[in-house]
Amino acid sequence: MKKLALPDDILMQIDKPARYIGNEFNSVKKNPAEVDIRFAMCFPDVYEVGMSHLGIAILYDMLNKREDTYCERVYSPWPDLHNLMKERNIPLFALESQDAIKDFDFIGMTLQYEMCYTNILQILDLAGVALESKDRDDDDPIVVVGGPCATNPEPIADFVDIVYVGEGETSYGDLLDLYKECRKSGFNRQDFLRKACHIPGIYVPSLYEVGYKESDGTLEYFRPLYDDVPSVIDRQVVTDMDSSSYPTKMLIPFVRAIQDRVVLEIQRGCIRGCRFCQAGMIYRPNREKSVDVLKAQAKELLASTGHEEISLSSLSSSDYHALGELMDFLIDDCLSEGVNVSLPSLRIDAFSLDVMSKVQDVRKSSITFAPEAGSQRMRNVINKGLTVDDIIGGATLAFKGGWNKVKFYFMLGLPTETDEDMKAIPQLANEVAAAYYDTVPKEQRQGRCQITISTSFFVPKPFTPFQWAPMYEAGEYLRRAKVVNDEMKAQLNQKSLKYNWHHSDVTVLEGVFARGDRRLCPAILDAYKSGCFFDAWGEYFDFDKWLAAFEKNNISIDYYAYRQRDLDELLPWDFINCHVTKEFLKREWNNAMEAKVTPNCKMACSGCGSAKIGSGVCHNAR
Ligand code: SF4
Repeated sequence: MKKLALPDDILMQIDKPARYIGNEFNSVKKNPAEVDIRFAMCFPDVYEVGMSHLGIAILYDMLNKREDTYCERVYSPWPDLHNLMKERNIPLFALESQDAIKDFDFIGMTLQYEMCYTNILQILDLAGVALESKDRDDDDPIVVVGGPCATNPEPIADFVDIVYVGEGETSYGDLLDLYKECRKSGFNRQDFLRKACHIPGIYVPSLYEVGYKESDGTLEYFRPLYDDVPSVIDRQVVTDMDSSSYPTKMLIPFVRAIQDRVVLEIQRGCIRGCRFCQAGMIYRPNREKSVDVLKAQAKELLASTGHEEISLSSLSSSDYHALGELMDFLIDDCLSEGVNVSLPSLRIDAFSLDVMSKVQDVRKSSITFAPEAGSQRMRNVINKGLTVDDIIGGATLAFKGGWNKVKFYFMLGLPTETDEDMKAIPQLANEVAAAYYDTVPKEQRQGRCQITISTSFFVPKPFTPFQWAPMYEAGEYLRRAKVVNDEMKAQLNQKSLKYNWHHSDVTVLEGVFARGDRRLCPAILDAYKSGCFFDAWGEYFDFDKWLAAFEKNNISIDYYAYRQRDLDELLPWDFINCHVTKEFLKREWNNAMEAKVTPNCKMACSGCGSAKIGSGVCHNAR
């Protein structure tokens, strides 16, 4: 086995050294001397989080299917190791070969959430790669990022060479082929980037210029620097999920990962159209895999991993057309072999409860609802498509089936939200508790029912109908949480209710980045230099350091987070075409203001613009 990059004395003093030694079961081993391209695939967060990520698993497998490419993995070193690597000048290395990633051809990173932005800089810094793309030369790796935050990559535009806009299975082949071609004859970085920008979905930030209006600081123009550079970047989408690349093996982590199981992606996208949900908009249209392909993939993955749990991955599993057939197969074939089946994102109805009762221990497990809003008016504003009867009816069925624990997820601070809407949250939970006591006779009860309410704070995201909405200040979010808490104490069944809420500073920062522009780059750089990273982790998040970095760079939180945008304002992400049109988003914003519900894609097509992709649910829409 190859020598480890970290010496024994370091491995002995850091937390969970197994995060850094590689060699996991099913990891890929190639001879670096026999490939043309070395690719470091990074998840800018800790090993346990990154190892659970399906997108990385798909890309790792897909890139390694190419004989000319060796794709290896990198996760953010935890702060204990970070400090030691800095002290001893140990360069960041890839897990498989333990080689320094500075010598690789590509450093790729997935951006799943805005709070990982400083971890991008941590990876580049520890690798010994210049933090800003303008300072990199021909021998440095090409830094490419993708993932949901790539739909507004402007706050990190200075740090990356390429933004991959779209689903990873689509354009990486062309990008790597071009790179190989350019390497054949005296590689020139700028020349490669200029050619790469012509590949669909590839955005090269350094090839564009941006201007801001003197009057109010909003965007005045965003344009390519050269005539041949595209002015619009079309998000790339897989059109046939059945033939799209999917791993037949998955890595078995050494340290228990957040998701230590086989993950079966049953569909991409969502038919629902919740107005706050970015995933529901950018992954349009909803595209399903056929049930026969899923059965074969399930069998193969369970055999190759030895995992004892299989989980269905989807934004809304209940909407999958053949869920009954797939579940029958999994229950008959997998449960009998001792494999657990987990089913996230189900709507609670008789069918789901029947399935859940077969795959879960009813007494120990809880039923989860995500109504997102307490009042019907507010649920109509967000287009949740869930009535109070759906919720109480579903809960009653669950209580009859033997469950007595319910988890509720809501958002606070949604557009148009009033105190009455907030109070409706504990009132709804109280009604559900009352349904328990009405439904389950005293002698059959196992103590009280437990209703747990969790609220998160709403963050407006690009490419949603709420992209123009204002956010609230951190203190106002906390006031809203207090309204919910106080109202809960006034409920008849308050002893059956429990309420959790989160800190709000981090929400405000997420809001700044989500709709930010290039002017944030220097502030992110300064925040990192002052010690900010792992911002998604409460114990490392330091809001005061962020405020100092914003002040130094004249960044106004008011401007980025609390301001209501004009519907005609040029937005920093308008140059990306995510297929849902701005006209559709405006229409949906207006519908939201009137609390008007828009039907889901299986009921009727609302003309969002994604039909031109020619795939998925749009074929069946009326
Ligand atoms: S074009 Fe119609 S059916 Fe297709 S995703 Fe948009 S609204 Fe749904």
